[in-house]
Parts: sequence; structure tokens; C-alpha cells
Amino acid sequence: MPAPTTAATYDVAVVGAGIVGLAVAREVLRRRPGARVVVVEQEADVAAHQTGHNSGVVHGGIYYQPGSLKAQLCVEGARLMYDYCAEHGVAHERSGKLIVARHAGELGRLDELYRRGLANQTPGLRRVDADQVREIEPHAVGVAALHAPDTGIVDFAEVARAIRRELEVEGVDLRFDEQVLAIDETGGLTTGRGRIRARRVIACAGLWADRLARAAGADANPRIVPFRGGYLALRPTPEPIVRGMIYPVPDPELPFLGVHLTRHLGGEVSLGPTALLVAARDAYALGRVRGRDLWESLTWPGTWRVARRHWRAGAGELLTAVSRRRFVAMAAEYVPGLTTADLAPGGTPASGPRPSIVTARSSTTSSSPTPVSRPSCAMLRRRQPPPPSRWPVSSSTAR
Ligand SMILES: Cc1cc2nc3c(=O)[nH]c(=O)nc-3n(C[C@H](O)[C@H](O)[C@H](O)COP(=O)(O)OP(=O)(O)OC[C@H]3O[C@@H](n4cnc5c(N)ncnc54)[C@H](O)[C@@H]3O)c2cc1C
Repeated sequence: MPAPTTAATYDVAVVGAGIVGLAVAREVLRRRPGARVVVVEQEADVAAHQTGHNSGVVHGGIYYQPGSLKAQLCVEGARLMYDYCAEHGVAHERSGKLIVARHAGELGRLDELYRRGLANQTPGLRRVDADQVREIEPHAVGVAALHAPDTGIVDFAEVARAIRRELEVEGVDLRFDEQVLAIDETGGLTTGRGRIRARRVIACAGLWADRLARAAGADANPRIVPFRGGYLALRPTPEPIVRGMIYPVPDPELPFLGVHLTRHLGGEVSLGPTALLVAARDAYALGRVRGRDLWESLTWPGTWRVARRHWRAGAGELLTAVSRRRFVAMAAEYVPGLTTADLAPGGTPASGPRPSIVTARSSTTSSSPTPVSRPSCAMLRRRQPPPPSRWPVSSSTAR
């Protein structure tokens, strides 16, 4: 049943009911109790995209440049996330993470990560030797590792549902199945259902963040280029093969962290994700093609720059995405003896969109060691005086 277009003026309109949009709406109310807030979401429920399709890891802030905002947000965010889960009864577990060096050639990068992690005050971080690797993860091998005992696991969709309940109690209007088509500077949004007036708009649109930013007059650079992360699950065993998380030492030349093993709440162990350039921002199925997404990726100079620079890694990712044997072999470098016989039977691998912000020319938009970064959110204020202009964002099928 479509919600009627409202004549009310909100203090703040948040676009997107992923974890970022919901947390932003919650924070607005904490800072301004009584503010009239609306959250507008194009899907039927919260956490429909990245928030509901990720590895579920509460990261400890090891990787990021010391002093950077990302490092601060990651460490402080993890602390707040655990507090929130405890307060609201959301299941979580500090199962710990090992970043494993397979051979001496990876020790230099491991030590650099250690330096960063210590500078970032990642809780409990220590460097461990090969024997300690075995003590922490009996099935894993490596010449050395970093152990972050406070790194944990949570279901971010469950966190999103908890915030939704809080917002409902606070009287926030949550409008689902309503896509924002345009943001104008006269104070509001045009949606598939009509107009919403708001003094402030905060766009937390995840996979489509660049389109909404452009809709508010921002530059077309950078752009989101869609990748897809595929996972495999291991067959359940009485004693889990992995107790916490086992990660590779990331290669700073590559845009993603690499295939890792993660034991989730409930004991399921996943392998992944891969990172495959795909033809739709919401490519949960490998073959999904959306004309606009494909066109925007192919005509974006940054896509070709990344492809030229990483064609070898890209070809490897393609092979990994189509070959379960190769996928498992990558994980077996950390847990020897794993074979395709250890995979859960008959399951189609889970997947998640991995949108990446890619600039037109320079190699990176972020302080992360990767040449791409993930989209977050943008605050759009009314300018004075407001020009009566409006920009199209997307049609209802253009996701
Ligand atoms: C494969 C993968 C693994 C990951 N693993 C981890 C991990 O282990 N730990 C971790 O901390 N992070 C991880 N992440 C990152 C994490 O999932 C994201 O940072 C986070 O979920 C982003 O939340 P969001 O609210 O910004 O985006 P989303 O959850 O994508 O939400 C954005 C929302 O905006 C809505 N929207 C967009 N455009 C419009 C519009 N025009 N009108 C109305 N609504 C709109 C969308 O429908 C969507 O619901 C991972 C991400 C991926 C892809």
C-alpha cells in the first residue's frame, strides 16, 4: 500500500535504510531530540543491500593509516558497536582474527601492519609466531601472524533491525518502497511517490551514493564501479575448522583484502569474498546486467585505469569466481588440507555487492592501502538563495 506523499516539512531526511542511514537518523535524534526525521528507502525493508550481504566482521582498525579518520572511526566504531549489541541484545562474538604470513616474503608487510595496528590502538593486538598460530587456530599454518583478539562477528542486518525498532519508538517516519529520484536545493526530495520537504538531506545511499551526490550538484568524479563478492561455505563439522577469522596479509598493490575464512555466529564457516567486476550494482546473481550500470562503468576512465593496472589480479578473480577448486585452494594456503569435499553440499555460493569508489585519474580516493574505497554518505544542505533547479537521479529500474 503506497504511503501518501506528505505535506509535512521534516528537519532531516535520510536517504537509505542501510546501517549507515539508520545510524545517522539515530544520531540526529540524539543530538536534536524531537527533530522531525524521515528515512526514505527504495526497498521493502532495512539492510537490503550491503548491510545484509557482508562478512559480518567488526574490524579492529589494523589496516588504516595511523591518524586517519578511517582508523579512528574503525577503532571507535568497533567499541560503540559492541556496546550497542550488548545494550540491545544483538548476538555477537569477539572470536578474534589472525592475519597470517605464509612465508618470510610477507613478514615486512606484516610488520608494517603491526606498526599501524599499534599506532591505531587496535585492542589486544600482538604479533605471534608459528607455534602460537597453531595454538590460536589449530588447523592454520603460517610463519608468523598478527592476532587481534577483540575483532569479532555480528549480523549487521540484525543491528539494522534493532536501530529500526528504536527509530520507530522515537516516531521517525520510515518510508519503504520509495525511491528518491531527485534532490533539489529548494528543500526536499522527489520520490517515485511525490515530494518530501526537508531542511536537510543526508544521503546514505551505499551502492548508489554517487548518483545521489551528482543529483545534488556534486562532481561526477568519483564514480561507483560495481564488483561482486562471492562466498563459499564449509560443511558443518562437530569442531569448527576455524575458531575465529583467518585473513591473508593484504597486498598493497591490490584493491581488496583477499579471500579469508570467517566463522560466523552459529558456527558456519565462510570462504571469500572474491572481487569480480560485474555489470550491475546489485549483481547478487553473477549474470545480472543493468544497462545503465554497465554503460557507466565502461565509459568511466577510472574503470579502464583500474583494469589496466590490475588485469592479472582481475583474471585471477574471474577464475576463482568460476572454479570452486581454485577458490578452496586459496583458503588451503592458510588451512592446509581443505578440499572441495569440505564445502557445504549443493549450496549456491552467497554473494554481496562490493561497490568501489573509483576516481577518473588519480590512483586512490582514500587513505586506505587500496586504490579503491567504499562509498559512505553525504550531507546536503540548502544553499542560499535556493535556485529552482532539479537534477534527475535515476529511474525506478536504474539500480
Ligand atoms: C562483500 C562485502 C563484505 C563486507 N564485509 C564487511 C565486514 O566484514 N565488516 C564491515 O564492517 N563491513 C563490511 N563491508 C562493508 C559494509 O557492508 C558497508 O560498509 C555497509 O553495509 C554500508 O552500509 P550503507 O548503509 O552505507 O549501505 P547499504 O547497506 O548498501 O544501504 C544503502 C541503502 O540506500 C538505499 N538507496 C540507495 N539509493 C536510493 C534511492 N535513490 N532512494 C531510496 N533508497 C536508496 C539502498 O536501497 C540501500 O538500502 C562489506 C561489504 C561488502 C560488499
